[in-house]
Amino acid sequence: MSDDADGDEILTPDEAFARLGNETRVEILRCLGEAGRPLQFSELHARTDVQDSGQFNYHLRKLVGQFVHKTEEGYMLSRMGRRVVEAVLSGAVTDTPSLERTQVDEPCEYCGAPIEVTWTEGSVRMFCTECPGQFGRAFDGGTGTDAEVGYLGRLPLPAAGVQDRTPAELLHAARIAGTLEVYALSAGVCPRCSGTVERDISVCKDHDVDGGLCENCQSRHAVGVSFQCTNCIYKAGGGPGLGVITDTALLAFLIDHGYNPIAGESMTEVNRVHQKYDEEIISLDPLRVELTFHLDDDSLSLTLDEQLRVLE
Ligand SMILES: [Zn+2]
Ligand SMILES: [Zn+2]
Ligand SMILES: [Zn+2]
Repeated sequence: MSDDADGDEILTPDEAFARLGNETRVEILRCLGEAGRPLQFSELHARTDVQDSGQFNYHLRKLVGQFVHKTEEGYMLSRMGRRVVEAVLSGAVTDTPSLERTQVDEPCEYCGAPIEVTWTEGSVRMFCTECPGQFGRAFDGGTGTDAEVGYLGRLPLPAAGVQDRTPAELLHAARIAGTLEVYALSAGVCPRCSGTVERDISVCKDHDVDGGLCENCQSRHAVGVSFQCTNCIYKAGGGPGLGVITDTALLAFLIDHGYNPIAGESMTEVNRVHQKYDEEIISLDPLRVELTFHLDDDSLSLTLDEQLRVLE
């Protein structure tokens, strides 16, 4: 701990987290967040369950500086205080809803059989009920683990997103949240901390998808891309389509066909276009890959280099 020029305490991240290890303090932050405006001491105190004003004052003072600002209008959340309340209310910290695998009225992109969705650990996971799916391994922010048969990928959705939604609505919400996350990733910005994201491209040299998934790379596509934030621990991965999702020509292709590529009713279709493309490796050194996206009876081909830049 040290002091800055204004006398406010500067806490290390460990100290900052330790400050939150108390129900009353989290309650104070939540009350300030729900108020949506600065609150005077007595008003803030009245909104909490703490009777003793000395106790209340003690905990409030522990929050001032890092999590709460004291202004002339009253106490208000700092940026970091807001982040804490957002995390608490998203269910990221404590809630553990669950959704068993449930069939939704939507066909698998590869075989047309119905798909199933499930929610665990902050993600919606999709599975085909008949074919091997899209990936044999699940990329869950680490090195990857063997996926259940039929795995079609996952979309991030905080626990709060599960509440009051049917499985179909939940999938739609996850597609919107997930697509927005991928747009940031594709543009090189970490969706969690806004740090710089690095990409790594891998090519399966012995690709064979006769049985649905390649035994060698455990995927339908020979070219894979992984993203890693240079600041926080965020990681993600998938096909190279993820890397070109913000390409102007691809956005225009969707819009020209009447599809809203960000948040419309057609997110299922938009997702299908992003994921189910043809891939042709034109050369390995230097790497040149042609991706062809399909929509209605039309198609769009993009040639990418080893950095996933679209070539003219
Ligand atoms: Zn299938
Ligand atoms: Zn392969
Ligand atoms: Zn990050």
